[in-house]
Amino acid sequence: MRYGSIINGRERNETHRDTLEVRSPYNQEKVAELALAKRSDLEDAVNNSFDTFHSTMKTMSAHRRADILRKTADLLEERVEDFARTIMKEAGKPIRFSRDEINRSIQVLRFASELAKNILGEVLPMDAAIGGENRMGLVKRKPLGVVGAITPFNFPLNLTLHKVAPAIAAGNTIVLKPAEKTPVSAYMLVKLFQEAGLPDGVLNLLMGTGEEVGEPLVTHEKVHKITFTGSLPVGRKIRESAGFKKVTLELGSNSPNIIFEDANIENAATSLVKGAFAFSGQVCISAQRIYVQKNIYDQFLENFVKQTKELKIGDPESEETDIGPMINEDEARRAKLWIDDAVEKGAKIETGGEQNGTVLSPTIMTNVDQNMKIIAEEVFAPIVSVIPFDSEEEVIKFSNDSIYGLQAGVFTKDIDRAMRVADQLEMGGVWVNEISTYRQDNHPYGGVKQSGIGKEGVKYAIEDMTEMKFIGIKLDS
Ligand code: NAP
Repeated sequence: MRYGSIINGRERNETHRDTLEVRSPYNQEKVAELALAKRSDLEDAVNNSFDTFHSTMKTMSAHRRADILRKTADLLEERVEDFARTIMKEAGKPIRFSRDEINRSIQVLRFASELAKNILGEVLPMDAAIGGENRMGLVKRKPLGVVGAITPFNFPLNLTLHKVAPAIAAGNTIVLKPAEKTPVSAYMLVKLFQEAGLPDGVLNLLMGTGEEVGEPLVTHEKVHKITFTGSLPVGRKIRESAGFKKVTLELGSNSPNIIFEDANIENAATSLVKGAFAFSGQVCISAQRIYVQKNIYDQFLENFVKQTKELKIGDPESEETDIGPMINEDEARRAKLWIDDAVEKGAKIETGGEQNGTVLSPTIMTNVDQNMKIIAEEVFAPIVSVIPFDSEEEVIKFSNDSIYGLQAGVFTKDIDRAMRVADQLEMGGVWVNEISTYRQDNHPYGGVKQSGIGKEGVKYAIEDMTEMKFIGIKLDS
């Protein structure tokens, strides 16, 4: 099947265009062919989004925006299996996890639909200022205009919706550039919105590369905000070139999870197997560093290794599969080299460490230190390190010794300690008795340090996709 960009409701799929193939990371079967967008398509998409904002979206009522989002959620609910199978094929995500992604996406649409009717302003007590008597002050929230959304491969539908749904709820138009490795689910999403009654031009889709259409989208003067989820190097480039635009950056991390001696070891080990290896660790909040208090270290490690060895590696289409492929062979090779680098520096492989094509077996490392890439950088692969610690003070220092700060997990039954540690961790979010990898779609989500700027989570993304407008009235009295 061949897919093109969708601009003002029409697909650009002409035969003269350059093409790009999307292949299954598991068996290399062709999933789709893309008719690539060029810079001139980007220009058309932004101009059309800009015009549609002024002609249509700016005046669309909140109840209509809410209705469209709700209908899209209902349609997606009818097609969970279609979408799940698409993500399974294009991303190589095991089918059970692909379904989870669709079910979360439905919730994102429903949150956005509810919130579209609740974008509130304020009435200010103007007489709080000397001379402010007989004045009224109103604060309204207004949409920004054109939002440029650039998305990664790992949650191709849900992370796209974390941008598109709040943008529509807030009354913006969107130019969407999905990851070239996983564009089919984004194409299907645009079609779903059309079916739900979204006017042409509100959501324009560009099937193009980061270089060809991503970069000019970021610098385009008619785009008012860039919302990006992806890697640190690309995020840094976007930050530098976006000029005066608002920018939200959701970037990477090397998430720590801390297990204190009083935690339920079995439960922590079970949930951390999922937290470290779901979608082959290609999750921004994947558990990468597990710190375990010394007196329970051996017990935890034994349990964790045992459960990891039970994971089923194989075809993402199978209901039994826990671990499928990584996104491509280059990434699997890169991850294997990082394991080799750590071993050369003295690390031990407790289990895993074998690479076969795109598949890397779930790998647990010990005897690691801060000079190894698997600790200092984002591994974004099924590799996790287990590290002993003595005291609360020490583990906070270890955890914060990173350029990243997205989400952490803390396991303890002592609520005082949990709160102390949560307060001191330099993170955008901390879970107590839950893995760093757990995310709901309605809490504020986004990193500190080099994990990003701004927050998602539908309500918070809407705040970032609107701006305050003050209207003051001097009353005759
Ligand atoms: P990526 O390589 O940074 O790509 C992300 C998107 O940026 C793709 O659509 C890509 O297009 C585009 N792009 C590439 N170069 C660009 C440029 N110069 N200007 C504008 N756009 C450009 O990331 P990825 O490999 O898809 O995703 C993995 C990364 O995302 C990891 O670091 C992970 O931690 C992060 N992530 C963060 C979160 C979060 O919420 N914090 C969530 C998920 C993932 P092409 O596809 O054409 O290259």
